[in-house]
Amino acid sequence: MENNLFYQRAISLVQKACDNLGLDEATRQVLTEPKRAVEVAIPVKMDDGSTRVFKGWRVLHTDVMGPGKGGIRFHPETTFDEVKALATLMTFKCAIAGLPYGGGKGGVQVNPRELSVMELERLSRGYIRAIAPVIGVDKDVPAPDVYTNPQIMAWMMDEFSIIQQNPEFGVITGKPLSVGGSKGRVSATAQGSLYVTRAAYRSMGRELAGATVCVHGYGNAGAIAARLFAAEGAKIIAICDSKSGVYDPQGINVDLADEIKAKTGSLKTYPNGKQVTPDDVLEIPCDIFLPASLEGIIHEGNVDKIQTSLISELANGPITPEADEVLNKKGVIILPDILASAGGVTVSYFEWVQNRTGLYWSDAEVQERLENMLVDAFYTIKKFKEEKNWDNWRAAAFGVAVQRVAKALKDRGWC
Ligand code: GLU
Repeated sequence: MENNLFYQRAISLVQKACDNLGLDEATRQVLTEPKRAVEVAIPVKMDDGSTRVFKGWRVLHTDVMGPGKGGIRFHPETTFDEVKALATLMTFKCAIAGLPYGGGKGGVQVNPRELSVMELERLSRGYIRAIAPVIGVDKDVPAPDVYTNPQIMAWMMDEFSIIQQNPEFGVITGKPLSVGGSKGRVSATAQGSLYVTRAAYRSMGRELAGATVCVHGYGNAGAIAARLFAAEGAKIIAICDSKSGVYDPQGINVDLADEIKAKTGSLKTYPNGKQVTPDDVLEIPCDIFLPASLEGIIHEGNVDKIQTSLISELANGPITPEADEVLNKKGVIILPDILASAGGVTVSYFEWVQNRTGLYWSDAEVQERLENMLVDAFYTIKKFKEEKNWDNWRAAAFGVAVQRVAKALKDRGWC
């Protein structure tokens, strides 16, 4: 999706919630403009001796409820508008999960696959030097996002610690366990979507066991979600990455798919079922569809082909507003990104708390708290939706989130 459009759409979700809640103009203005946006140019010495300059951003949408929080994306097509949109969504994602944070997001326009490991490290450190004045454990706390990972977070935390002359583990989350990472962080986004989807299913008197599931996107979120839903007894019938995909109505062997993906970088040699394109996966009838790739993959052009009764959004913004309307009219339940993908940032919060207290939690503690917080968020939205008599989960989720942030704005006297 065009990034400017994506930003307009993020803003219109907030505007709609403001309309629904009858909020005043000042609140509306504060909620639809980022508080701070920084654009940086990062010169990087390449292995061949040349220098390339990469563009990057860090946006703080608001810090009214606490420090900014949100990932850093390394992607060749990321833009300032996309980063602004994602920072805005983070504010409401944190609010819905009940985290003491505002929204932030960062991005660097780069295809990390074209860089050597050393170049990637120099870029990661250069980006942190450039944004160091606007991040900090109580200011704005980055994390991984598309095409960034724990190793990159470790370099970034290290660079910030060098600048501050102090170990600053809490400045960045999503780090490796060896340097202050949290148990459960790598699988947290997928785990969160399982908890939320399972709660939704149970609230309808159903169980995930036996449900057929299609997963669109096979990065960290999608691949782990496939594994977790399969472990719950669901049948994964289709998966795809950005170029290849597999459909097998008998059920995909997730272990085998992971092994092949790790070895070859693609799903092309998966031996069973049938090879399909990522677009084909959108059209396969299933009980649960998990969009786990990029924004805007379900749009006006393909929405009529979607044949599912529930979509749980692991990616940020995977459905355009036009498609959203069509799906809502059809009665498809959409568990929105700010709820269904909130597992990552929730365990990031746990990581930050552990870094600050120095007391590290077991995996069981992480899972128990994560499930409690997200199931709680689900039932809060359900109650709000029923009270207002709305038929739309996204509107209800934004309603709850915007109301919380607006209350903080009022209480702090900002508007
Ligand atoms: N990038 C993730 C998201 O969009 C995680 C952010 C975080 O952990 O701060 O929710």
